Amino acid sequence: MVRFFIITLSAVLLAAILGITIGYSLEATWGWLAFSSLLLLFIFYNTKKLYQLSCWLSKHGGNTHFPNAGNAWDQAFSQLSALEKNTVSIQNKLKEALIRFQKAGEALPNGIIVLDKDDRIQWCNPSAEKHFEINLERDRLQALSYLIRHSAFLAWLKLGTPKESILIKGIRGSEITLSIIMVPYSSDERLLVSHDVSQVEIDEKVRRDFVANVSHELRTPLTVVGGFIETLIDNPNIEKSTVDHIYQTIHQQTNRMFHIVEELLSLSSLESQQFPAPKTPVSVEFLLEQIKQMAAHISGQRHHIEVQCQDPESYILGSSNALISAFSNLVSNAVRYTPDQGQINIVWRIVNNEGLFSVQDTGIGIAREHITRLTERFYRVDKERSRSTGGTGLGLAIVKQIASHHDASLDIQSTLGEGSTFTLTFPADRIQLANNSH
Ligand code: ADP
Repeated sequence: MVRFFIITLSAVLLAAILGITIGYSLEATWGWLAFSSLLLLFIFYNTKKLYQLSCWLSKHGGNTHFPNAGNAWDQAFSQLSALEKNTVSIQNKLKEALIRFQKAGEALPNGIIVLDKDDRIQWCNPSAEKHFEINLERDRLQALSYLIRHSAFLAWLKLGTPKESILIKGIRGSEITLSIIMVPYSSDERLLVSHDVSQVEIDEKVRRDFVANVSHELRTPLTVVGGFIETLIDNPNIEKSTVDHIYQTIHQQTNRMFHIVEELLSLSSLESQQFPAPKTPVSVEFLLEQIKQMAAHISGQRHHIEVQCQDPESYILGSSNALISAFSNLVSNAVRYTPDQGQINIVWRIVNNEGLFSVQDTGIGIAREHITRLTERFYRVDKERSRSTGGTGLGLAIVKQIASHHDASLDIQSTLGEGSTFTLTFPADRIQLANNSH
C-alpha cells in the first residue's frame, strides 16, 4: 500500500516537474499539456494492470500463474494469489475430510440413515441400503415411512427420537432381523442406526437347541435307570435272572451317559481353544497303525478293512491325540454304518503337497439333504440307528472342530444305499515329508 502510494506520488511529482520545466522553457500551455499527458499515461498504465488482474481472477487465478505486473502491482497480485491458494488448499482439505468421513460411513457394518424432521432420507450408507432395501440415488428425499410399511416400525418412527431400540424381523419381507436405534443428531435431523442381529439370533437358537438336546439325551438313559431302580425297590423278592438283566441295563445306560458327557467335555474343550493346534510332527504311519487296530476291534471281523498308506514317510504337524480322535471317529462311523461284509478303505496320500486322509465305506450312505447338517451337534439321520450302535450325534462335530484347529477341511461325499467317503485335507504347511521336500 505504502509502495503504491509512493509510486503514485512520484509519478505525479515527475509529471509536475516536467510540466513546469517545459512551461518555463516554452510556454505554459505546453507545460500543462506535458503534465496531463504524463498523468494520462500513468492512468492508462494502471488501468491496463487492473484489466490484467480482472482477466487473471476470472480465469480462477489461484490455479494459474499471475501475470508479471511489475512495480506495485506485483505485490497486489502476489498477495491475491497467496490468498487464493490458501482458500483452495482449505477447500481441498475440507473435501478430503468429507470424502474420508463418507468412506468411513460406507465401510461401517451398521446401517446409518440421516433423516430430516419429516423423516425424509438425506443420506444413508450401503449397509442401510441393504438392511432396508433402499437405494440412496433413487430414494433420496423420500420419506422412510413411505418406503417401509412395517406397522411396528412405523409406530416406533412416529415417536420421534424413541429412547428404546426396536427389534424387527423381516422389515421388507427379508429374513434378516434388525436392532434399530434413533439418535438425535441436530435440531431438525435424526440419525437412524441399524444393526443386523440375525447371526446372534441363530447362535441363540443353536444354544437353546443344544441345551434341549443335551437334556433329552441324558434324560432317556436316566429314565431307564430310574425306572429299574424303582422296580428293584418295589420288588425286593424279584428273581435273580431279572435282577441280573436290570443291573446289566443300568450298567449299559450309565456307560452311555458317561460316553455322552465325555464327548460333550471333549467338544467343549475343543470349542474353547482359540488357537490352532501345535505343530508337533505326528507320524502318519503311527496314526494309521492305531486306527487299524481300533477298526479291527470295533468291527470284530464283520467287515473287510483295508488300510493304504501311500506316503508312509509323512508327518502331520498337529496334536497327536486330537488327530487320533478325529480319524477314529470317521473310521468308527464307517464301521457302525456299514452292514456286515461291507468294505472299508482307509487311505492316506499326498496330493499337491496337501495331506489327504479318507475313509470310504460301502455302507448305508446319506441322502443329499442331510450332508450339510451332519457336523451339527446331535444331528443324526436316524436317531435310533445311531443310538443302537452307541452313537451320541457328536462325533462329526468333534471331527469338524479338530479339522479347523489343524487348518484342515472335511469333505463328505455320499450316495444313499451305496456308501460314503469322508476326507480330511490338511494344507501343505501342516505336512512334513521325511526327506524334507518342503
Ligand atoms: P453319531 O454318533 O450319531 O454317529 P456323528 O456325528 O458321528 O454321530 O454322525 C452324525 C450322523 O451322520 C450319524 O448319526 C449318521 O446318520 C451319519 N453318518 C456319519 N457317518 C456315516 C457313514 N459313514 N455312513 C452313513 N451315515 C453316516
